[in-house]
Amino acid sequence: MPLEDIIARINAEEVRTGRSEGSTHLIAVSKVQPNDRVEAVLKQGHRVFGENKVQEAASKWPDFRSRFDGIELHLLGPLQTNKTKQAMELFDVIHSLDRIKLARKLATLATELGRCPDLFIQVNTGKEDQKAGVHPEEADAFIAECRDLSLPVIGLMCIPPAEEEPSLHFALLAKIAKRNGLEGLSMGMSGDFERAVAQGATHVRVGSAIFGERDYG
Ligand SMILES: *Cc1c(COP(=O)(O)O)cnc(C)c1O
Repeated sequence: MPLEDIIARINAEEVRTGRSEGSTHLIAVSKVQPNDRVEAVLKQGHRVFGENKVQEAASKWPDFRSRFDGIELHLLGPLQTNKTKQAMELFDVIHSLDRIKLARKLATLATELGRCPDLFIQVNTGKEDQKAGVHPEEADAFIAECRDLSLPVIGLMCIPPAEEEPSLHFALLAKIAKRNGLEGLSMGMSGDFERAVAQGATHVRVGSAIFGERDYG
């Protein structure tokens, strides 16, 4: 689907639910997509992109950054502690802060580098074994620990279970964010971004609806 159609659908949902038009950030998720598809979206003027893996991002984004100004890159996938420094140098925002060991590493490196990407804490709202993220009942304490480390936490992120109604998970994430005074809500993907906007998403992460299906072959 053309990028402008996705943006139009987001804007329509903002208006329908009484939010201000254009208040949702659209992250175009370019993981696994061929470079020509990514470049086409860059040439349409879009600048906010998401990747899942540090290595993959390192192999393609330095070149795009040298050719296009103003790119904002978001890390969406799990971050191994030993790749923290590389991730901090590559990404503007990290959505997958999910454990205290990673929080401590980010804090140490932030002092060393003199800067830190904005951070979302990932919450495993469905408490699924295969998914990263702190469980909902651990979230308040973890947010407090991250704040004690002076980390720039701007919001919460979730990936709802595939077989459940995502709106319930989006509402839970919004509730946890609100009671902790956090503004950012990273939620909603190709199949459910409008429902996420309706629940107050500040950042939607849309991949295949923009670029087409990913070819993992
Ligand atoms: C791949 C991915 C997306 C985008 O998924 P689509 O269904 O292609 O829109 C969003 N968020 C995360 C964390 C992802 O890994």
